[in-house]
Amino acid sequence: MLKGKTAIITGAGRGIGRAIALQFAGHGARVVLNYRKSISQIEELLQVIKDSGGEAIAIKADVSIEEEAKLLIKEAVKEFGKLDILVNNAGINKDNLLIRMSEEEFDQVININLKGTFFCMKHAAQVMLRQRFGKIINISSVIGITGNIGQSNYAASKAGVIGMTKSVARELASRGITVNAVAPGFIRTDMTETLPDKVKEASMAAIPLGRFGDSSEVAGAVSFLASDMANYITGQVLQVDGGMIM
Ligand code: NAP
Repeated sequence: MLKGKTAIITGAGRGIGRAIALQFAGHGARVVLNYRKSISQIEELLQVIKDSGGEAIAIKADVSIEEEAKLLIKEAVKEFGKLDILVNNAGINKDNLLIRMSEEEFDQVININLKGTFFCMKHAAQVMLRQRFGKIINISSVIGITGNIGQSNYAASKAGVIGMTKSVARELASRGITVNAVAPGFIRTDMTETLPDKVKEASMAAIPLGRFGDSSEVAGAVSFLASDMANYITGQVLQVDGGMIM
């Protein structure tokens, strides 16, 4: 499905990013695993991919720093000669009610989730424009569509990702580059693990399929959008949420 393609996945050490990296490698892509802190997880993932006959390298970069995002793209292209797919998955949350939220909590979330996505797209697009081919997939969230109590910073960042996805999709379409977003619902990862039981129960009650999602189920949607099967799809937001919002 992705044979011969080169892909960068940001925040690939854990959770959804790890699942995307594993699926991409399984589909034949050469993968660049970006991480910021998760060095041991990245080393383990590199080994798993190599053991199953895949090709992968790891590059450390904080995507919220433009120079590091730029170097990530540059190093990836230096290693594999081209860049077909960029998945902007790196993300954090710093939840708090509006009146208690600090400027720092607001800025950290915007800087990584929104600006990090901007920096990586900006530098990847320069390569993809020359190639006249590329697929960018940005991981948003259903929270960016519905909003959520205690997540004004996170919702703003993820709504921003959707607006940016549609704008960049329009900008790059004439050069054969597609840009789409995937909006997961409640997926079992480190990010959702620490939520209070009350929040988990309320979320579960809102999911028609009656269960939380698995990272591999988000990866499935991302793999589809990264493949030639999705060549006529751009500027879209694909929800992977068990029917949570519809
Ligand atoms: P996670 O398990 O907490 O993993 C977050 C990943 O982002 C880690 O690999 C982390 O790398 C990386 N990261 C954070 N800041 C970074 C930075 N500045 N530069 C580079 N990498 C950075 O979270 P997850 O649940 O897999 O979430 C992945 C994405 O899906 C996020 O964008 C999240 O908002 C989105 N999402 C998740 C859910 C859900 O229910 N889990 C729902 C909707 C959307 P290090 O460990 O190396 O710092």
